[in-house]
Amino acid sequence: MSIPTIALNDGNSIPQLGYGVFKVPAADTERAVSEALELGYRHIDTAAIYGNEEGVGAAIATSGIPRDDLYVTTKLWNDRHDGDEPHQAIAESLERLGLEKVDLYLVHWPTPAHDNYVHAWEKMIEIRAAGFTRSIGVSNHLVPHLERIVAATGVVPAVNQIELHPAYQQRDITEWAAANGVAIESWGPLGQGKYDLFGAEPVAGAATAHGKTPAQVVIRWHLQKGFIVFPKSVKRERLQENLDVLDFELSADEVASIDAMNIADGSGRVSAHPDEVN
Ligand code: NAD
Repeated sequence: MSIPTIALNDGNSIPQLGYGVFKVPAADTERAVSEALELGYRHIDTAAIYGNEEGVGAAIATSGIPRDDLYVTTKLWNDRHDGDEPHQAIAESLERLGLEKVDLYLVHWPTPAHDNYVHAWEKMIEIRAAGFTRSIGVSNHLVPHLERIVAATGVVPAVNQIELHPAYQQRDITEWAAANGVAIESWGPLGQGKYDLFGAEPVAGAATAHGKTPAQVVIRWHLQKGFIVFPKSVKRERLQENLDVLDFELSADEVASIDAMNIADGSGRVSAHPDEVN
């Protein structure tokens, strides 16, 4: 069954399900990404700070898969927002990846204490115009950050990649994104294994009902919510499991009961808050 795509606001499209390689050790990345590509993944999410762009590039180079059939995202790290550093940073990422362009380049964090995310966004617009990426977007941007970069440049990011899983649904951001044509990418889609997501009744119950695993139910929930998702694993059987989510559908009631797992005060967050990362 083919992986669905999402239309982006710049006319490009992105495979809705991919493979994220945060914390995949550099020495294991070529093997893991090669297995993912063999299994049928075509969308890889990496970042300069992950230290494994070379392994992603090596797996792509040996895969024999036509470049146009692959979707590669990488990200600008926090210490490279100023001056012309973003241009240097994308050149270095492309060199490590062995690619002429990526499909999506993201500002990894807004680093608000430095007040340079508008500048970084202006540089992203230049980088897209220069042909080094097909699409540009942001990550970990809160609504005020989004409003400010759009007001300053008139360019709406194609995506915002944010921490998002059942306990932490960031509805202020997803509602803003829906109203402004920004696709949402869920990072930490399985809660990074940091709370008992898989044992929660809405997830476990749907898993039993559909003969699927709890992880598959959660990935399916992201897809049915319209989010782009790229769970991380280094195990072949889990890579296969996480891809095997296209042959069933959660009912509206099942989706609603997982929606209801959101903790409205934001305490379901499992990783850093954007204001704290500078
Ligand atoms: P995740 O929610 O995907 O959790 C990964 C953990 O879940 C792994 O440790 C793995 O052991 C476990 N897991 C994976 N598949 C499983 C399965 N089928 N059953 C049981 N357990 C399973 O968390 P993540 O890796 O942080 O997020 C996914 C991707 O998002 C990353 O690899 C990266 O590409 C991206 N990301 C981006 C940012 C950002 O700041 N933009 C931050 C974190 C992650």
